Amino acid sequence: MTKVYYDQDVTVKALEGKKIAVIGYGSQGHAHSQNLRDNGNDVIIGIRAGKSADKAKEDGFEVFSVAEATKQADVVMILIPDEQQAEVYAAEIAPNLEAGNAIAFGHGFNIHFGTITPAADIDVFMVAPKGPGHMVRRQFAKGSAVPALFAVYQDATGNARDLALAWTQGVGATRVGVLETTFKEETETDLFGEQAVLCGGTTHLVQAGFETLVEAGYQPEIAYFEVLHELKLIVDLMYEGGMEKMRYSISNTAEYGDYVSGPRVITPDVKDRMKDVLTDIQTGAFAKRFTDDYKAGFPDFHAMRAKQQGHQIEAVGAELRKMMPFVNEQQ
Ligand code: NDP
Ligand code: MG
Ligand code: MG
Repeated sequence: MTKVYYDQDVTVKALEGKKIAVIGYGSQGHAHSQNLRDNGNDVIIGIRAGKSADKAKEDGFEVFSVAEATKQADVVMILIPDEQQAEVYAAEIAPNLEAGNAIAFGHGFNIHFGTITPAADIDVFMVAPKGPGHMVRRQFAKGSAVPALFAVYQDATGNARDLALAWTQGVGATRVGVLETTFKEETETDLFGEQAVLCGGTTHLVQAGFETLVEAGYQPEIAYFEVLHELKLIVDLMYEGGMEKMRYSISNTAEYGDYVSGPRVITPDVKDRMKDVLTDIQTGAFAKRFTDDYKAGFPDFHAMRAKQQGHQIEAVGAELRKMMPFVNEQQ
């Protein structure tokens, strides 16, 4: 088992006396900044004018432009959307960094794929909580935390690793455990997970199941319950206790069917295609496609989103969820 870091492993209080700027106040930004502030750190927000800026002010933060916040800070955590980071970095962050400052990320994309190349005299680290920002904040407020990964890309001062560890403690993650990774490993595995399994794999598996039932003449509403709605119950069990707990809880009929039919759907060639997806991530082909599309105004992104939003399963689900107001209650 890889080493897990806890509170007692953070021996150097590397953020003490440092001015911290969190750039962006969205999902991750609000959670990092509020948790760090509650742990006694000096945090300001760098953001463009707009909804997030108003929210940060409401939450009691001093809010500046990205350039001004960077100028004031020793440590700058960049938590704006990945596709916008390169432009904002070049225009507002890089010109305002001084030798010995640190920049940090919540995901390794731009550093790993080279769309941001920091100067050699800057520390570069990452802290990536393994959950959405709202959970990061909610667990912290309850006295717990979401685990996090950290990595150091560039250690100009000799303090980069201490800073990264202090940050994991600042956001609360060392209460439950923190793992070390590299920018390469975090970026490639994160992209693979979301593309092949969590997001791309799951949505397309569910849609294919829905279409199979509807095309065979079953009611779309019944198909929705069987292939989408009940997915949460199954995933929750896997989340709590792995495949074993899930298979223990389902009926023997369901478990038997799992063993017989799972391998007929997820055949060995599915893994071959997963390897192709991984190759596109590793070679940078996916990053290039995403970045080029962003630069062109995201035409492919918007077309693919519109196509998916038009799928029958979405309209059927919207109606059925009206019967189930509990699905939107916080668990
Ligand atoms: P969000 O989309 O939730 O928030 C982005 C924030 O950046 C908003 O406050 C937005 O403000 C601001 N912003 C956008 N463009 C600019 C700009 N040009 N100048 C200044 N501010 C800007 O992002 P996430 O929190 O989801 O993602 C941030 C980073 O965290 C990414 O690197 C992501 O990969 C990583 N991450 C995200 C996770 C998640 O669960 N969401 C999990 C782990 C890592 P406005 O309101 O004005 O648009
Ligand atoms: Mg991701
Ligand atoms: Mg059933």
